[in-house]
Amino acid sequence: MKFKTAFISILFLLLSSCAGKAEVESTPTSVILEAADQPQVTVEAVVTPSPVPFQFNLPTPGAEPISGWRPPLYPVPWAVSPYDHFYFARPIAADNVNWPLAQYRYGGVFFAPNIIHTGVDIDAEMKAPILAAGPGTVLSADWGLYTGASGNINDPYGQAVVIRHDFGYQDKMLYTIYAHMSKIIAVAGQHVETGDVLGLVGDTGATTGPHLHFEVRLENNTFFSTVNPELWMAPPQGWGVLVGRLMDHHKKLLNQFQVQVRPEPSGIPIRTVMTYASGAVNLDAYYQENMVLSDLPAGIYKITFEYDDKQMQTWVEIFPGQVSYFTFEGGVGFNTDRPAVPTLEFVPKVLPFTPTPIP
Ligand SMILES: [Zn+2]
Repeated sequence: MKFKTAFISILFLLLSSCAGKAEVESTPTSVILEAADQPQVTVEAVVTPSPVPFQFNLPTPGAEPISGWRPPLYPVPWAVSPYDHFYFARPIAADNVNWPLAQYRYGGVFFAPNIIHTGVDIDAEMKAPILAAGPGTVLSADWGLYTGASGNINDPYGQAVVIRHDFGYQDKMLYTIYAHMSKIIAVAGQHVETGDVLGLVGDTGATTGPHLHFEVRLENNTFFSTVNPELWMAPPQGWGVLVGRLMDHHKKLLNQFQVQVRPEPSGIPIRTVMTYASGAVNLDAYYQENMVLSDLPAGIYKITFEYDDKQMQTWVEIFPGQVSYFTFEGGVGFNTDRPAVPTLEFVPKVLPFTPTPIP
């Protein structure tokens, strides 16, 4: 850990000199702590990229200028840090688009001010096989997931499959949801293994184009029990996940703030991520985040956003297969101290199987 901290500090010193800062501390402290010493710094040298207009229609080709290539995924369950829980494989195979669409992340608002996105959208092609993200029992495979009315072809989820997994987290059941299928292949009551084909990508339900809407639900199989799938799907090998908690002067979460993340030193590609809207989102029990950006190759990243009419910036390092965490608090600055929670359970736990009637 000391080596890591020192390494970050060295990099920060280099980056600091690039940024033209006159003074750097000689004591090895973390990059974020140094940044926190200068809250609300206004950086005129940073060129604000021209804002990318928010897209409201699917699909959004070319919105995020990153290569479609991804390294192979880590095997699941994957949890390097004691607080991470990458238990699920991706529900789309690696020979297709199998990562979340940038503009349709968890916690976003796209269609109406009061409709929160409770999953991620994966822009795989029409009729691509949809795969079980983990072992479990198919609870339902039908129309009507949202409305509860079996066979309801007007249900916003379209044809959807629900899996109750064989393992849970902190004594809570885990479920995954696969929506908008063009064809359902799984059958209610069936036990599936990771990678089993559940159905085919489609555009049934409330969607303007074919894609997979994927949800992770914790404890209860309801619309209001979702968590961010980007914290539960194993990253590509050598890549990591950025998690942030952005707060104002009163420690209130900053909703729908546009945050830009760019790799150093190239600055390309710039990724834009919005903090969660308030509503039907659930924060991770440990991170209490309001921003997640997965699929980042390991390396140093610069994070910028506007707050109080000033440009805030800091740097974080992304490590292979791990979550990198930061907080921002108005009037205080950045920090990378992780929340201290001593009682979490860190491995998937097999829960006693209780047969329940399959509708
Ligand atoms: Zn969706």
